[in-house]
Amino acid sequence: MKRLFLLIIPFLFFSIPGYSQEKPKVLATASMIMDMAKNIGGDHLDIQCIVPIGGDPHLYDPNPTDAKMVARADLILKNGLTFEGWLNELIENSGTKARSVLVTEGIKPITSLTYQNATDPHAWMDVSNAYVYIKNIKDAFVQLAPEHRESFEKNYASYLLQLQELDQYIFNKIKTIPKDKRILITSHDAFQYYGRHYGIQLEAIMGVSTDAEVRTSDISRLNKIIQSSKVPAVFIESTINPKLLKQVASDNNVAIGGELFADSIGDKDSDAPTYIDMLKHNTDTIVRGLLMENLAVTEQQKTPVSTYWLYALIGLLFVGGFYIVVRKLDN
Ligand SMILES: [Zn+2]
Repeated sequence: MKRLFLLIIPFLFFSIPGYSQEKPKVLATASMIMDMAKNIGGDHLDIQCIVPIGGDPHLYDPNPTDAKMVARADLILKNGLTFEGWLNELIENSGTKARSVLVTEGIKPITSLTYQNATDPHAWMDVSNAYVYIKNIKDAFVQLAPEHRESFEKNYASYLLQLQELDQYIFNKIKTIPKDKRILITSHDAFQYYGRHYGIQLEAIMGVSTDAEVRTSDISRLNKIIQSSKVPAVFIESTINPKLLKQVASDNNVAIGGELFADSIGDKDSDAPTYIDMLKHNTDTIVRGLLMENLAVTEQQKTPVSTYWLYALIGLLFVGGFYIVVRKLDN
């Protein structure tokens, strides 16, 4: 009987819900931070994000489920630099004991040129900044679960190599755009870090945050830039309503070069389900868009296939008619 009881003990132990089998809970504010964290944490941690994929972290409005998630978290990973204005209140209200780690610690932030006293939060757009992100994430994980240190270090080293390759890929791609065409026009000012590192001039309708009011002067500034630089395309963003930028494009007779991912990765079925895919997709889209000739004009000038069929039919009728006339004259 005593032996039987000893055999049952382990089953009792594991059947208690939430006991011992649970992984430490990590909560990232935004999806690109979550993806970086998953690459380092592997299977040892339960990693989720607060703002859902496709959501806009600048304007996020936390709900009661978020407060519960924050309350149960062991570690919170945040971008900072004015990105998550809603986070402090959410942490306070949840009463969480979780440690909060600033993943941009050590990065030299860009100050917005357009809006005074605003820090530009989009540091992840420069892959050399992502090296800092993942070092901070790895250090936080080692502190959270020291028993998995070796695994975190290994994952970090191999992910860092992938990021270094990505950085080189972007440099090489951007070099293929003629220098005078390296102007990127988007909905909001999310690409300053990208532009500074890879050598592209940036212009946007909105400032570094999406909650700013669009001013008429912003639109006329963009119109002037499009006209003088003769860029063939402007770019919409996955988390922002494209209406205004589409209007600017049509007013200036330039194309929409494609959709860029700035403040969120894409869903599983998109071109950008990971941070690496997101930067690759953006780069490929930007290069393709800026290398094309003025698409709007070329499209109009192109002769549709149906017109060729019409010409062929007229030609056939003409030849046929001519043949009949000749036959009649012969008779
Ligand atoms: Zn943004």
